[in-house]
Amino acid sequence: MALKRLTRQRKAVLEVVQRAHHHPDAAWIYQEVRKLVPRVSLATVYRTLEALVAEGHLVPITRAGEATRYDAHLHPHLHLICEGCGAIVDLEPTLPDLMTPAQQAHPELEVRSVEVTYRGLCPRCKAALKG
Ligand SMILES: [Zn+2]
Ligand SMILES: [Zn+2]
Repeated sequence: MALKRLTRQRKAVLEVVQRAHHHPDAAWIYQEVRKLVPRVSLATVYRTLEALVAEGHLVPITRAGEATRYDAHLHPHLHLICEGCGAIVDLEPTLPDLMTPAQQAHPELEVRSVEVTYRGLCPRCKAALKG
């Protein structure tokens, strides 16, 4: 029984993140999961998110001074942060290889990853701007 409820909560958390298009944080996910599993607690949502990240079902997006956001899209892609509403929108342009040139220019370093983030407006905020 406990296991069944756990599975239902996990499914609900994963579905909520997959359905959201703005890469939500735990507080937003909690509000949505509560509509599906009314008795769920915030602590359970946090634990479930941690487990889903550990198992590779979700990717955390951490930014200094901000709550962790969660991404259900596991393939490599880029993000645009909306300066209007804070939504994180997926982008799929092809980028040149930014790792190899950096490593070649700085052999004294060990380059492990690179982050590129666009800033701008999501479709809704862009539409609102035009009024
Ligand atoms: Zn926006
Ligand atoms: Zn994403």
